[in-house]
Amino acid sequence: MPLKQRDIRKLAAVLGAGRVQRGVLLAPYTTMKIGGPADFFYEAFTEQELAQAIRTVRAMEIPHFLLGCGANVVIGDKGFRGLVIRNRAQKTDLFAHRVRAASGAIMYPDIIERAVAAGLSGLEHYVGIPSTVGGALWQNLHFLAPPPARERTMFIEEVLLSADLLTEENEVKTVGAEYFDFGYDYSILHVRDDVVLSATFQLAPGDPGWMRKITEANLAWRALRHPPLDTEPSVGSIFKKIQGIGAGRLIDECGLKGASLGGIVVTHRHANIMVNTGGGRAADLQGLIAFVRAAVFERTGYQLETEIDFIGDFERPNPSRPVFLPRPPGLITAEELAQRRNRNG
Ligand SMILES: Cc1cc2nc3c(=O)[nH]c(=O)nc-3n(C[C@H](O)[C@H](O)[C@H](O)COP(=O)(O)OP(=O)(O)OC[C@H]3O[C@@H](n4cnc5c(N)ncnc54)[C@H](O)[C@@H]3O)c2cc1C
Repeated sequence: MPLKQRDIRKLAAVLGAGRVQRGVLLAPYTTMKIGGPADFFYEAFTEQELAQAIRTVRAMEIPHFLLGCGANVVIGDKGFRGLVIRNRAQKTDLFAHRVRAASGAIMYPDIIERAVAAGLSGLEHYVGIPSTVGGALWQNLHFLAPPPARERTMFIEEVLLSADLLTEENEVKTVGAEYFDFGYDYSILHVRDDVVLSATFQLAPGDPGWMRKITEANLAWRALRHPPLDTEPSVGSIFKKIQGIGAGRLIDECGLKGASLGGIVVTHRHANIMVNTGGGRAADLQGLIAFVRAAVFERTGYQLETEIDFIGDFERPNPSRPVFLPRPPGLITAEELAQRRNRNG
């Protein structure tokens, strides 16, 4: 339901004259560059502004969504009815082997570069992943342990000491890492409407030279597998991991790389990533997702589940049949490179 004039005036009065904008296109604020307009849009620049905005929309019962980097969400082509709050609270302090960062602070490069330069280890594993601090806690940000072993997945929970929350009961409180009930791609934030205001990470003294080696290796790993965000916008992996098999491998084995629907393509670099080649819409993405799920189920019996969230109002998924784009000349996938290296000893 559209907001009443009275509510709009009240929102503007509480959040600041000129700070609440109307009809702001959300696509530029997401990594996949997809999404229609938010009825109302507000950027919070401090933890206090964030808490005040959330308290206000809760009290006024206005539908709202808290946006970080928009790296794990797809926003509908019809946009969002209510207030989108973009979190730009970024104050970060380093002290006594700890980093305390407001929840809108950007993990990489901002926080990670500062920690590495200060010789503080623990966050360097997560280089190159688009994320705010709040988004990182929401999803328990993760990446592989350093090379050569890459023996396990490391999680942001391992270095989280505490966080300040505005709880769903509207209390500001400090909680320890155990509060979050972290799992793979999971935290309690999926089921409780708590908002992270800030987080404190407990780091360890580390050799900046060694940490640089890790960041370079991890960035190289990503460059080989992930399309570059500035030229090939994406939302990272589309489907959840299937233990021991890999969603990407299933899609690849079904011959679905290059499938393309209205500007969205299953990239030849990585079968679990779809990129926006320009003008792609959420309806195209949803149509392509439906096509891939159906094809994989038909050929393998596996049901793929999406790992991203769909926010706002959507049009009907594009029902057209995808066309297949040829593989770009000169592209070498990570698997092919590994096979070549094995062959050459
Ligand atoms: C190219 C690419 C590569 C990626 N690689 C990885 C990877 O290796 N590992 C990995 O774990 N993820 C990866 N991702 C996924 C994504 O980067 C993470 O999920 C990231 O943590 C999302 O953070 P965000 O700030 O963009 O959150 P958003 O997408 O903006 O929001 C995600 C959810 O978090 C909620 N949220 C945001 N801030 C707060 C807050 N302060 N309090 C409460 N809730 C909040 C939002 O409301 C929303 O529900 C990748 C994504 C891309 C595009």
